[in-house]
Amino acid sequence: MAASSSKKSGTHSAVLIPGDGIGPEVIGAAREVLDATGVKIQWVEGAAGESALKTHGTLLPQETLDAIVKYKVALKGPCTTPIGGGHKSINVSLRQGLNLYAAVRPVRSIDGIKTRYTDVEMVIIRENTEGLYSGIEHEVVPGVVEALKIVTEKACTRISEYAFQYARGHSRKKVTVFHKANIMKMADGLFLKCARNVAQKYPDVAFNEMIIDNGCMQIIKDPSRFDVLLLDNLYGDIISDLCAGLVGGLGVVPGANIGEAGAVFESVHGSAPDIAGKGLANPLAAIMSGVMMLNYFGETDAAQRIKNAYNSVLASSDPQIRTRDIGGEGGTKDFTRAIIERVKKK
Ligand code: ATP
Repeated sequence: MAASSSKKSGTHSAVLIPGDGIGPEVIGAAREVLDATGVKIQWVEGAAGESALKTHGTLLPQETLDAIVKYKVALKGPCTTPIGGGHKSINVSLRQGLNLYAAVRPVRSIDGIKTRYTDVEMVIIRENTEGLYSGIEHEVVPGVVEALKIVTEKACTRISEYAFQYARGHSRKKVTVFHKANIMKMADGLFLKCARNVAQKYPDVAFNEMIIDNGCMQIIKDPSRFDVLLLDNLYGDIISDLCAGLVGGLGVVPGANIGEAGAVFESVHGSAPDIAGKGLANPLAAIMSGVMMLNYFGETDAAQRIKNAYNSVLASSDPQIRTRDIGGEGGTKDFTRAIIERVKKK
């Protein structure tokens, strides 16, 4: 990851935010798997989401924010924002509050998870702090509302720089920006202009631009032609779920939110209330987010051991040790236990 700040050392510290819905189940699983590697991590529990509303009277307690600022790294489960009641999205508040401006979401075909595609190998870089997620909406006159898409040259340049740095740092060949500048000439026009300007500084990385509706069609036709995707906040949200669908669903796509002050690692999926508390959730996305965190810490050997372990579980023909969303018959605990057994064997 381009913004890696920590080096391998004795004990690492990370804030652990279980969150809501399936969050406690998958984050608990990720913690167990990471601990099984023997890497010493001091976990500092932080409350956030609907569960925090009950215990702390607020969705995002100041002490959780302070802990992330102090320890600079967090592993976070999905958080639910109650609809109605005027609450600002907790995920948006966290990303904006800590200026975690880049969401990094690797989406790749995984051996052992059958989908229509076998050759997906892309990384989504999503702008995390502005665009239509500014949350500024108002009623102009009764029956007419306006939502503001805030786009700044500073944020567009920063995220473009991040995408190209990431590409260069990870030996990737191409950055493709998706936009709708033919309609939003000023807003998406600025995003595109900044991406083009930054691209000129990286002659070693190819640059491609695509109108987003065409881009969606091209991804579905042949995802292998995409490498690094550069997207604004809303497009990044939507395209992340679309791309998750190419590789087995939301249960297998990890993520990180990176800023100058630190990094919050979290899966792309939400709190999945339909399966929460049933022991059915796929913990892999949370575990993979934990692997990204280990790499951020410089613990690359431990990260690789976890990857080998889950690849070995996924290669097994035993349906009891994989969750239902990826064709198995097992639950969260069965899958987690099988991964831990293999991590410990190495
Ligand atoms: P949000 O708006 O909070 O991002 P969402 O609307 O994208 O959430 P999710 O909560 O991510 O919705 O769930 C979408 C679907 O994917 C649900 O049917 C859910 O059960 C499924 N899903 C999400 N995460 C997982 C997981 N880890 N394991 C299995 N199924 C999952």
